[in-house]
Amino acid sequence: MNRGRDGCYIGSAEASECKTLCGIVAGISEEEIAPILLEGLRRVEYRGYDSAGVATVSEGKLEIRKEVGRIDDLESKYRASGMKGRTGISHTRWATHGRVTQANAHPHASCEDLVAVVHNGIIENYRELRERLIKEGHVFKSETDSEVIPHLIEEASRTGKDPLAATLSAVRQLRGQYAIVAMFRDHPEVITGARNDAPLVVGVGEREMFLASDVLAFISRTDRAVFLDNMEVVEVTARGYRVFDTDGVEVEKKPTQLAWELSDLSKHDYAHYTLKEIHEQSVTVERAYLQDAGKLDSFVRALRGAESVLLTASGSSYHAAMLLKDRLNRDGIVRCDAVLAGEFEDTAHFLDKGTVVVAFSQSGETADLLHAVKVARGKGAKVISVVNAAGSSLARESDEVLTLNCGPEVGVAATKSFTAQVMVGNVIADAVVGKSTVGDPAAVGRLIAETLATEEKVREIAKLFRDRPDFYFIARGHHYPLALEGALKLKELSYIHAEGMPASELKHGTLALIEKGTPVVVLAPGGEGFESTISNALELEARGAEVIGISDKEHPVFRHRVGIPPSNESISPILEVIPLQLLAYFMATERKNDPDYPRNLAKSVTVR
Ligand code: GLU
Repeated sequence: MNRGRDGCYIGSAEASECKTLCGIVAGISEEEIAPILLEGLRRVEYRGYDSAGVATVSEGKLEIRKEVGRIDDLESKYRASGMKGRTGISHTRWATHGRVTQANAHPHASCEDLVAVVHNGIIENYRELRERLIKEGHVFKSETDSEVIPHLIEEASRTGKDPLAATLSAVRQLRGQYAIVAMFRDHPEVITGARNDAPLVVGVGEREMFLASDVLAFISRTDRAVFLDNMEVVEVTARGYRVFDTDGVEVEKKPTQLAWELSDLSKHDYAHYTLKEIHEQSVTVERAYLQDAGKLDSFVRALRGAESVLLTASGSSYHAAMLLKDRLNRDGIVRCDAVLAGEFEDTAHFLDKGTVVVAFSQSGETADLLHAVKVARGKGAKVISVVNAAGSSLARESDEVLTLNCGPEVGVAATKSFTAQVMVGNVIADAVVGKSTVGDPAAVGRLIAETLATEEKVREIAKLFRDRPDFYFIARGHHYPLALEGALKLKELSYIHAEGMPASELKHGTLALIEKGTPVVVLAPGGEGFESTISNALELEARGAEVIGISDKEHPVFRHRVGIPPSNESISPILEVIPLQLLAYFMATERKNDPDYPRNLAKSVTVR
């Protein structure tokens, strides 16, 4: 296990591909806490949420404000009513149990307002707990699974237990995934927290302390953090913290220094984070290339020694994993397959000690992926991972870790983390195979900058097609994962139906959907497969499709063409994806969608 290394490089905190785990921010300070918590909530806003709330304890009373909608709405409510207190908890909710209503928003209080709780995740056994608590006279005010927690804590407090003991007692009864923070009416000097399969980090400040689901929430106040592990319970006061296992035995945990440009979360001159992050790629891809030689060596030894390799990931990370699979198989060094993290358990029956599982994730908190890792470990497989968030659960659960080093990714749709994953995949494949296909990383940065100059051309294309109901993306062989990625980006940001498929597969069904004017993006870089892809494009054109070519070559079949510079099979995917990201972005802005916060999606998918 790879825990709490000093000076570790923390990715966009602990999140991304998980789908709840919006935000928890809590703290005890010498200043008024509510404004500090609201600022923290804004910093984790990018994760996506549907409601928000804040609670403080002041003058022997719990004060709770919550709202459906944006943090701005919550802030107006807080300002209008005034809210005092130096101890507080706050939350952004991505509903899993119960509608999106004010009553269901967190924090939730116990019957006698002794305890207020915020929770990220899912309590699997909430029905039985709720039924029992109702029988015992507890009155529930919401439809959430989370509300059992304050009632359980209150029940334990009534028997004379202190906040820590009451939290431990509640946690022992919970099953599921959770990050929890509780605050106590009669003990304003303390907050407690617990985690299982959802991130929770202690921020260690100067005479103030925080508990949050993401280091970004408190990075403007302190850069020292303690990453909690599963089944740990923490007691936090203004002066310190103590961590315990669920038996109440104290565990020693030292703070980690966060070594990252985390505080630079501004959009600079860009209209959206997504566009800023697309543009950062000329730098981030180069940074992803720079891997620690020792760590890379251990990674490569693990892969070379494997009987078989299974790559696993979700969403865009899965597409990056598919590219690596292709390269490792092509060079024939090690038999390699890729499986979606959510399908891992059902498909990975052949796993054993000889298997090396490589997990790809931006956040390292994706619930599907963490479950896959648990299954893999259960079968004795070695787990190595490629992750942006070095302090994340995935990093800590892995035998070896390589980091993406691409800085925080705020836009919900993965952009720079994807290209960083492709680059790290290249670095791994080159090292395993023993040949360099990347060349000079600075030159790759320049090719990316050149490709970014297609922005205006892509914007024009987006304008032309913004009202089309369907889009198709086709490619062959090594480029096929890019067709999937292009379709995924478009779905996420523009809400337009899109499909990505191998060009060869069209004639087996999808061609029936092509009619006059249907836009089809054809990824056709020169080299192997170019001619056959063009033949497919001609078949599409003959049936009325408007072919949008992404290629370094010209061809009359391209009604529209986005030119990318020529490169090789390792670098080309990084270049091809840029017009696809820009297309999704401009389709979103043309259609008046918010590209940074697409509907129904959250940056982190922490439920399975
Ligand atoms: N399951 C809880 C709810 O639906 C928490 C969701 C979250 O993580 O935001 O309220």
